[in-house]
Amino acid sequence: MNEHTSRPGPRFRFAPSPTGFFHVGGARTALMNWALAQRLGGTFVLRIEDTDEARNRPEWTEGIIDALAWIGISDSDEHFEGPHFQSANADAHIAAAQRLFESGAAYYCDLSGQEVQDRAKELGITGYDGYSRDRGLEPGPGRVLRFRVPDGITVVSDLVRGDVSFDNETIEDFVLLRGNGAPMFLLANVVDDVEMAISHVVRAEEHLPNTPKQQMLWDALGHAPPAWAHVPVLVNEQRKKLSKRRDKVALEQYRDEGFLADAMVNYLMTLGWTPPGAEEAGSEIVSWASIEADFALEDVNLSPAFFDVKKLTAFNKQYIKNMDAAAYLAAASAELPDDWDRNRFAAIAPHIQERLETLKDVPGTVDFLFWPQGEGAPPIEYDDAAWDKAVKPEWAAALLADVIAAYGAVGSWDHETLKASMEDLMVRYEIKLGKAQALPRVAVTGRAVGPPLFEALEVLGRDETIRRLTAAADRLTG
Ligand code: GLU
Repeated sequence: MNEHTSRPGPRFRFAPSPTGFFHVGGARTALMNWALAQRLGGTFVLRIEDTDEARNRPEWTEGIIDALAWIGISDSDEHFEGPHFQSANADAHIAAAQRLFESGAAYYCDLSGQEVQDRAKELGITGYDGYSRDRGLEPGPGRVLRFRVPDGITVVSDLVRGDVSFDNETIEDFVLLRGNGAPMFLLANVVDDVEMAISHVVRAEEHLPNTPKQQMLWDALGHAPPAWAHVPVLVNEQRKKLSKRRDKVALEQYRDEGFLADAMVNYLMTLGWTPPGAEEAGSEIVSWASIEADFALEDVNLSPAFFDVKKLTAFNKQYIKNMDAAAYLAAASAELPDDWDRNRFAAIAPHIQERLETLKDVPGTVDFLFWPQGEGAPPIEYDDAAWDKAVKPEWAAALLADVIAAYGAVGSWDHETLKASMEDLMVRYEIKLGKAQALPRVAVTGRAVGPPLFEALEVLGRDETIRRLTAAADRLTG
């Protein structure tokens, strides 16, 4: 037993290497482990695998911890343990290697990498042929320690894939310690899992080829292997594995682009898994509580999962729409420049809530309410295409003049009155409301799309609305 088995129940772990931004695929694996640890009353161990000194940077570790906290995985929850750092456990890795050497499960070899390759070529094989298996070499400078792969078949029982068999013939005697004595990743990974009493290894499919080797190591170290589960990789639209170089994969980036953590979490959990009842309900939008209650590795799909930013965006839109008024107002207001009047924004905010794809859309949707106003303010910059389209009908100038007259005369400046007044005109011009609104909208907002027009005009106020409509009329006729 060891210091890590304080909490009863199964022990899951998430073991990222801090070599870059936090990948959405990593976030999804972490969430699966998290859901299971919570439901089963177990533990989620965060282990930072920081032994590759050339590639690790401390800021990436901080990024991982922050990003996990953003999606709800943090030490404020009783199921969380860590972070532990692999580098702190180096002595245990070396001690385990020593035990494997002493028991005969591993042996030293003095061939250099080049010599191994040359032999393989000569023998017409790939990899290492076991040259030093029976040479009885002691440790020494430049000598690597290799694992003595036994004969037979290794069956990995995988909770997602069922039994996966590997013929040990196809697995070379792999290296545990380098020539300089440094432990290899495979060894460190297994020794940490053993020491941390991990019962379930749930990770991405790309690790499956390592698993028979790791299982042999568990065995050679005298422990029954954990339950394995390898979940399918995430792919892009071209069905290629999501990659840092090709695709937008950093969780941090989505956070910075205004995606909500809840939407991201829900979406990530639907990759390769469908919440029960989603089909009947016609929606995969589900709470974390139901994900935690329902998620099962046995139900994870085997085929690669398409990380679809469009679908993620649709989830996000839905989540923004479902936010309660106060939370929404606070989150949306946080996106505004400091000098924009919060009260003015609060008046329009509910009218744009359903239209936002991300919170970053907020300023660009309502900016026209905060442009300089009144006499002497610079003219509005119109979107050329929107302007050209709106002024095309032969009645455009006449309608605009009528709107200006009507809006100058309405008794009350509220969206219902403004809409009714516009409807009167539209009947006279025998056009639909959408057409009638087009030119006033461009005149006031500069664009063809935006918040509901009459609500926006109500917030903008009579004087500024008329000023902008008049400027547009002057441009049109002058
Ligand atoms: N550090 C490994 C990685 O980030 C994790 C391997 C594992 O989960 O066992 O790929």
